[in-house]
Amino acid sequence: MKKLETGLVIGGSIGGLLAARILSDFCSKVLVVEKDAFPDGPEHRQGTPQAFHPHRITPRGKAIIDRFFPDYEQDLVSLGAPSSLNKIIHQHNQFGTMVSPYPRNDIKFSRAVLEYVIRERVRKIDNIHFLQKHDVLSLSVSPENDRITGVMARDRETDLSPFPVVAELVIDTSGRTSKLTKWLGDLGYNVPLPDKMTANIGYSTRRYKLPPGKEHLAEKWEAVNVGGTPGKTFLGAFSFIENQVAETILYRPDGVFPPSDPVEFEKEISRLSSPLISELISGLEPITPPKSFRVPYLFRQHFEQMKNWPAGLLVLGDAYCNFDPIFGQGMTVAAMEAELLYKELERNDTSETGFEQSILKKFQHVIEAAWWLNCAADLRWDGVGYEGSQPLKGIEFGQTYMDLYLKYATEKQDWKLYGLYWAVNTLSVSPRAIFNPEMVRTVLSSSPSGQNVLDKLENGHSLENVLRDILPDFSEEIFDPEKMNKLEVRHEN
Ligand SMILES: Cc1cc2nc3c(=O)[nH]c(=O)nc-3n(C[C@H](O)[C@H](O)[C@H](O)COP(=O)(O)OP(=O)(O)OC[C@H]3O[C@@H](n4cnc5c(N)ncnc54)[C@H](O)[C@@H]3O)c2cc1C
Repeated sequence: MKKLETGLVIGGSIGGLLAARILSDFCSKVLVVEKDAFPDGPEHRQGTPQAFHPHRITPRGKAIIDRFFPDYEQDLVSLGAPSSLNKIIHQHNQFGTMVSPYPRNDIKFSRAVLEYVIRERVRKIDNIHFLQKHDVLSLSVSPENDRITGVMARDRETDLSPFPVVAELVIDTSGRTSKLTKWLGDLGYNVPLPDKMTANIGYSTRRYKLPPGKEHLAEKWEAVNVGGTPGKTFLGAFSFIENQVAETILYRPDGVFPPSDPVEFEKEISRLSSPLISELISGLEPITPPKSFRVPYLFRQHFEQMKNWPAGLLVLGDAYCNFDPIFGQGMTVAAMEAELLYKELERNDTSETGFEQSILKKFQHVIEAAWWLNCAADLRWDGVGYEGSQPLKGIEFGQTYMDLYLKYATEKQDWKLYGLYWAVNTLSVSPRAIFNPEMVRTVLSSSPSGQNVLDKLENGHSLENVLRDILPDFSEEIFDPEKMNKLEVRHEN
């Protein structure tokens, strides 16, 4: 017996597909309502305009997706997606360059291919159904106004009157354009303002194919990442996706947008603080013009703080909180939330009062680390602002320390420390893995400026207590592999 009759998911993108997969184990029937028509193959669609731009999955995100869709990377490979194993990764930052063979068998892909592969897996699950080309317009509510009973939807093609779709649990995964705040407001709910970072992020991406004689480049290179200097230069990156297509990006927060004019784009690539990307793309054949994407601000909703939250409603993915795309965390956060949802649905009674809000609170534990890391990174740039109900904790110290940490790891060419830096930024381990007293002391005492920071921090107090006081309380449970890996996922469909 499934716990619920019908689960409904708003939006059929990465978050929605994962949510549908989770619900399929707990609901007799799952309906995914998506405003787009899904393409027959791995192609772009209007509802996910970000999909032309590079999308990387973190090891954590990959492990979760693999748990729900076993061996999904094989499907990516069969569509021409390459492995990164042993190819060269070249990371250039303001303190030097780290070059190494890539140690893992991770598959690189375009976002369209990833979504297609997951969608095809979801299609094979008997109790999941898609309602395509339908807009969700609002939420339906019980007479007591305390339970969501479904949604009102409209067929985009016929444009006939909206009709009700009944469900016991509705999950909003409609992304950063979600109307959830408005829908709840229309029902009389008081929704707190979100935290907002006005990052004014600009992306430009161009794709190239390898002409005859240059195919070896795809065998050699995993990625080249050239860091930007806040207030001065763009960040650039070069890597490969399926079928020997190379993609190059320029990125910057702070409202100075990278060009989409082809000549200007390549001029800016040649001005990056390392010439390597410019050298690599010379002689490649552009197959698209540079395409731009702008993110005026990032937001973190605080639905978990609402005095009354209606039963039968959840939200996950970008609709709850979205992130600076350059850190590649968005899909991983959606996957971590989906995994948590599975755990909660498995262990708890869904009819218990406050069940949904307790899940929203737990999702915030996932969001906390990623949001804080994003804020620490982007608030370095002049012109990036922050508005939140609570001041951000420890950002100034976090920025100084992360810089000194990166400098220390790069100058020492220490891949273990450097890897840990990326493991934190890609949510594989807790920020405490680098923000612990032992590591902080080692890094700070290695330079006069760091020692100065350490002296001011300690000032007669225990470093452990000081760090606990100034930094957010990152949930350790979310990062405890023991706890999350014990999750046993059923594969009955
Ligand atoms: C330029 C850029 C690059 C990025 N790179 C990365 C990366 O490298 N790695 C990474 O992990 N993340 C990356 N991200 C973030 C990633 O795209 C998102 O985190 C991820 O797509 C979130 O998925 P989602 O399902 O929550 O929302 P979305 O992917 O935004 O999907 C929302 C879905 O809801 C549908 N929809 C919206 N409104 C309605 C409605 N009213 N009714 C019905 N359907 C509706 C839309 O059509 C869409 O299908 C990047 C983002 C950008 C902007």
